[in-house]
Amino acid sequence: MRTIGHWIDGRAVNEPGRTGPVHDPARGEQTAQVSLASAAVVDSAVKAAVTAAGTWSQSSLSRRATLLFGLRELLHTHRDDLAAAVSREHGKVHEDALGEVARGLECVEFACGIPQLLKGSHSAEVSRGVDVHTVLRPVGVVAGITPFNFPVMVPLWMMANAIACGNAFVLKPSEKDPSASLLLAELVHQAGFPDGVVNVVQGDAEAVNTLLTHPDIAAVSFVGSTPVARHVYETGTAAGKRVQALGGAKNHMVVLPDADIEAAADAAISAGYGSAGERCMAISVVVAVGPVADPLVDAIAARIPGIVVGPAAEGSSMMGPLISSAHRDRVRSYVERATDDGARVVVDGSAAPAGVDPAGFFLGCSLVDGVRPGMAVYDDEIFGPVLSVVRVDTYAEAVALINANPYGNGVALFTRDGGAARRFGGDVEVGMVGINVPIPVPVAWHSFGGWKASLFGDAPIYGPEGIRFYTRPQVVTTRWPDATPSAINLGFPTNG
Ligand code: NAD
Repeated sequence: MRTIGHWIDGRAVNEPGRTGPVHDPARGEQTAQVSLASAAVVDSAVKAAVTAAGTWSQSSLSRRATLLFGLRELLHTHRDDLAAAVSREHGKVHEDALGEVARGLECVEFACGIPQLLKGSHSAEVSRGVDVHTVLRPVGVVAGITPFNFPVMVPLWMMANAIACGNAFVLKPSEKDPSASLLLAELVHQAGFPDGVVNVVQGDAEAVNTLLTHPDIAAVSFVGSTPVARHVYETGTAAGKRVQALGGAKNHMVVLPDADIEAAADAAISAGYGSAGERCMAISVVVAVGPVADPLVDAIAARIPGIVVGPAAEGSSMMGPLISSAHRDRVRSYVERATDDGARVVVDGSAAPAGVDPAGFFLGCSLVDGVRPGMAVYDDEIFGPVLSVVRVDTYAEAVALINANPYGNGVALFTRDGGAARRFGGDVEVGMVGINVPIPVPVAWHSFGGWKASLFGDAPIYGPEGIRFYTRPQVVTTRWPDATPSAINLGFPTNG
């Protein structure tokens, strides 16, 4: 059985030890095993990173920018290989995987502007003969811990800015689809980055917990489910680290009575079932306001038979399998339970769709109407192709529903009413808002982050907030000796 190993100090490393299975979710077969790093392996990666950070932090901005431009070209050239690596282990269709690569690439393009981003600030003559400037220094070694659902994009959310700022990076990817991380590391190597600037340790909770308490890790970026995000935040900050931990989501899409129903139905389908619902920005709840509910549910239901479920390898497939058999069974259980809980299953996708490999982890698309808070299908992040419809009478009820939810990642409003659209952002406690845009993932020069249980810490990821997270401001106050006579002053410094 092929073993997927680590990347430490510029080379592939395979150490004997614990392993976990890696599957082709479209066939349900184990295709490889992944090494699960011990504390000693994690330590060797951190040591390599510490050494690399020593010189990398001193590298010129023009050298960093040149290497990042080179990496950008390599990632672009290898976009199909990266997408194929994602599809093989995650299962998402090629087009969708290419989209993920493109959004990750965007973060590298942002980081190519690092000379401008790290410009700092300068005040001349704050006092007579005294100047002050602020420099953004790297923090040291940064760990990135990533989820299974975006094995290329989420590592690039972190890595591009982290290394551009002069840090070294240790990535701990999801053990469910680990191969793409090695391809990323090889491309970083080919681009000419010094050994040890980017390292990859495969693993599970043992590797994560070693990173969280390792004395040489300065900062931790985490993306994954809310319980683990909370654990990462609490453990990492208790160990004195800077931590940003992005968690799970339950994203609502409010459709007002004046909305274009056909456009809203298209958006609900795309955002609900794209990537089999395994996106943290997936729409999982449609909130139908007033009379829009019946025609909207009909329009969504009418589109579901047109969704072709199948393996990524078939060009006609629009939606691939789920990540594992256990996850598929868990998602299915929500549909099975919904009727008992008092909801109405309009489209039941809990059986494997016709024509797919029955051993694969496939599900069809489900649509559940009459959903209310208190039902499991509403309360939990399902992370599968299950779209709930909650019916409310007014805009105010829709807002109250959203704000009562513990998550606050993304939200969308569909309307033609400019006034409602304008006030919506101020009314909802959610970090990313779409107006007639169902998946409002910010572009790379803004930053990404939810509120409430969707983000622990105060730092959204990538964009300007990423630069802030991966740097420490240092303020330098300068006076050059001049010919003035010697004088001491025990008072607190004031300007004058
Ligand atoms: P997960 O929390 O199970 O795993 C994420 C990472 O944490 C993996 O690298 C995993 O190895 C590690 N991990 C898992 N259990 C751990 C434990 N007990 N202790 C320490 N480390 C542990 O998440 P997942 O299933 O890979 O990804 C799906 C989740 O990620 C969903 O909840 C989704 O909403 C969320 N997500 C959030 C965002 C965002 O930006 N907010 C983006 C993508 C995914």
